[in-house]
Amino acid sequence: MMKVEYKLVAQTPPPSFKRFLKRTFSLDLLKGLKLTLFELFKPSTIVTIKYPLEKIPLSPRYRAVHNLMRLLESGNERCIGCGLCEKICVSNCIKIDTKYGIDGRKNIESYSINFGRCIYCGLCAEVCPELAIVHGNRYENASEQRAHFKLKDDLLVSFALAKKGQIDEYSGYGSLSPNADNNIKPTPLSNDETSKKVDSEKVG
Ligand code: SF4
Ligand code: SF4
Repeated sequence: MMKVEYKLVAQTPPPSFKRFLKRTFSLDLLKGLKLTLFELFKPSTIVTIKYPLEKIPLSPRYRAVHNLMRLLESGNERCIGCGLCEKICVSNCIKIDTKYGIDGRKNIESYSINFGRCIYCGLCAEVCPELAIVHGNRYENASEQRAHFKLKDDLLVSFALAKKGQIDEYSGYGSLSPNADNNIKPTPLSNDETSKKVDSEKVG
């Protein structure tokens, strides 16, 4: 059997009594405490707030619980039941039931989002062609029952507020920005270059 040789390494010496005295009486401890207390009470470094009594302001682009929007003029629901949001949802948590009415238009029988599965990715708001679904800023969505997550009635903005003109057109991720008109280029009325020029002169 091969003999294994072990080497003894030098042990770390225990802290000397001299060092202990030096650290104690040169006030290192008090210096550290002074710095801690200074940082603790410096107003500019207080980063915690007394939630839920205080809340930090959220960005308008914050992606929390969705809202289903209404048309500003009529108060009618914007959603046309195209189903794109349901298709694109990566968590498969949107469920829409639609039915054709006697006027041949699609009615939305039910619209639900399972917020127990939603990852707030925002794809549904991005894909919606009618700007009907947007993310609001309501992030307090705890519930003791899964069944509370979440039916159309909870998501749809109030008809009364819409009729009074008290809902914001721009109210969350997925909506039009306030300066959307400035970003739209006029559609040319013809493809030939001369007409495009004339059109642009008319518009300009
Ligand atoms: S935010 Fe994302 S995960 Fe949530 S409902 Fe929309 S597409 Fe689905
Ligand atoms: S994409 Fe928009 S319009 Fe289409 S079903 Fe979803 S919310 Fe309604």
